[in-house]
Amino acid sequence: MKERDGLIIVNTGNGKGKTTAALGLGMRAWGQGYKVLVLQFIKGNWKYGELQAAERMGADFVIRQMGEGFVRNVKGDALVDHKDAAEDALCNARIEMMSGKWDMIILDEINYAIKFGLVSVEAVLELLEAKPQSQHLVLTGRDARQEIIDKADLVTEMREIKHPYKKGIQAQKGIEF
Ligand code: ATP
Ligand code: MG
Repeated sequence: MKERDGLIIVNTGNGKGKTTAALGLGMRAWGQGYKVLVLQFIKGNWKYGELQAAERMGADFVIRQMGEGFVRNVKGDALVDHKDAAEDALCNARIEMMSGKWDMIILDEINYAIKFGLVSVEAVLELLEAKPQSQHLVLTGRDARQEIIDKADLVTEMREIKHPYKKGIQAQKGIEF
């Protein structure tokens, strides 16, 4: 059989659905018997449903929260903590990538981590260069850098047309978290 073509996939844009589409791909891949790892670079403070789902899915669908919480408005020492956490996450991503254990790795919100200067775009580009041929790699987050888009095989921009926040509807369980 022809060797699998591992794709570099980017979900970006200002509309909702980047992380959930990545998780949907992960579920599809897992259903095919693939091993899927999700590394979350920016951790929110919700009780995300997907964490509980992953626990039930077992050892072949793993989500690890690497980030130190939202980075917006963080300065000084706290920003250093975030940077350390993001760098650790990137180091972990490389180790897991090279381990050959995973068929798909999802780097959730990595574009955000780049945007906020938590990880350098160069370090992420190096990671893309090192990707094993058959492994699928998914990167999510708004404002994907052009250099990353250039390296990707599949890029989708979620564009907001309407979002319930705009009319004051709060985050809904099962939809946002
Ligand atoms: P999801 O995790 O639902 O797929 P996302 O990954 O596309 O969303 P992020 O940019 O990671 O969205 O933003 C995280 C949070 O912000 C989510 O709770 C999401 O619902 C919310 N969000 C996404 N897009 C918008 C928007 N256009 N306006 C307001 N909130 C948004
Ligand atoms: Mg997201």
